[in-house]
Amino acid sequence: SETLSRPLADRADFPGLVTSDGAPWHYLDSAATAQKPQKVIDALTNAVGRDFATVHRGVYARSANMTRAFEDARRKVAAFIGGAEAELVFTRGATEAINLVAYAYPDKGRVLLSELEHHSNIVPWQLAGWQVDVCPLTSDGQIDLDAAEAMLTREHTMVSFAHVSNVLGSTLDGKRAADLAHSVGAKLLLDGCQAVPRLPVDVAALDCDFYAFSAHKLYGPTGIGALWGRAELLGAMPPWQGGGAMIDQVGFHRTTYAPAPQRFEAGTPAIVEAIGFGAACDYTAAIGLEAIHAHESRLVAQTREALGAMNDVTLYGPADSAGIVSFLIDGIHPHDLGTILDEENVAIRAGHHCAQPLMAKLGIPATARASFGIYSDEEDVAALMRGIERTKRIFG
Ligand code: PMP
Repeated sequence: SETLSRPLADRADFPGLVTSDGAPWHYLDSAATAQKPQKVIDALTNAVGRDFATVHRGVYARSANMTRAFEDARRKVAAFIGGAEAELVFTRGATEAINLVAYAYPDKGRVLLSELEHHSNIVPWQLAGWQVDVCPLTSDGQIDLDAAEAMLTREHTMVSFAHVSNVLGSTLDGKRAADLAHSVGAKLLLDGCQAVPRLPVDVAALDCDFYAFSAHKLYGPTGIGALWGRAELLGAMPPWQGGGAMIDQVGFHRTTYAPAPQRFEAGTPAIVEAIGFGAACDYTAAIGLEAIHAHESRLVAQTREALGAMNDVTLYGPADSAGIVSFLIDGIHPHDLGTILDEENVAIRAGHHCAQPLMAKLGIPATARASFGIYSDEEDVAALMRGIERTKRIFG
């Protein structure tokens, strides 16, 4: 626990980690969104302030500089997951990235999802007219790839799974999922929202076809995310939104389009946010994803051990969950727990976590969820346990 007493990053670097009264805030909701380090805030401030101009159009130096910074950010974000910049589309977030594939992928057939998916990896497929099949989970909350193997048919053109579950913290064997998808001629999309902030991710090693994630969970700004896709797949996909910047030649009756990734980025992009996204990749990469994973795994182990010692607590998800611990206390609704913990300056998430089908499968309406980040430490876990003990006393 020597190592646990210290966070990986300097907590003083994160202005969001104090309450409005200046007290330490035990923020255990990083899976929902992460607090931002000063370096990211500074990058955003400079981009929207002294360096601000539009990109890709200006003839003046400021705009050329902004264009360079914006495209540097694309390179950084792509490199962060082992991809090439020409394969990296900026989106509003993981949600928009998944919607993009669901709408623009030309071969809309059957898609295999899993029981643990976030609503953003369910609803877009329904709206875009895919036929949805659902892979079950193993008893410890992993996507059951043996079941997936048995279910996949030549009618499946897409498999779309969470790389790490936002509720259970279970980590998918992405390479095996890719092999299974490819064996029937389907493509694999990984929803990497929860994986990218807490595991080293390499799309080449995973052998996936699309990878979706959001900046705000990776210590970056809201309003921006990314879709990585294989060049030949993006190149074969038609645009899904029209406007400026995505075109080649426009006429009233015929328009030709820019190549990917610009083809999928209609309108003035989120320039400031993209630059902040790049800064967040720099910041996180400098700490190192291996170190982050080990750090969060220690905090998870400590939390699961403390909760597991309570005979009125049910733990969900696998023992080696990545950065996320979901649980229920007998007789205490997660919302009541969350409200009392808030009085102790401990922030957890309570609810269905945008995974109503998973809650239905587990037969529960909600869970309490503690999730960690690079600034989390042993004191956060201790504060959570103190708050739980107090809540139990209140509920008698
Ligand atoms: N997938 C998973 C696994 C998530 O945790 C989230 C965010 N909770 C999303 C998708 C959606 O991300 P966003 O809201 O940033 O688009």
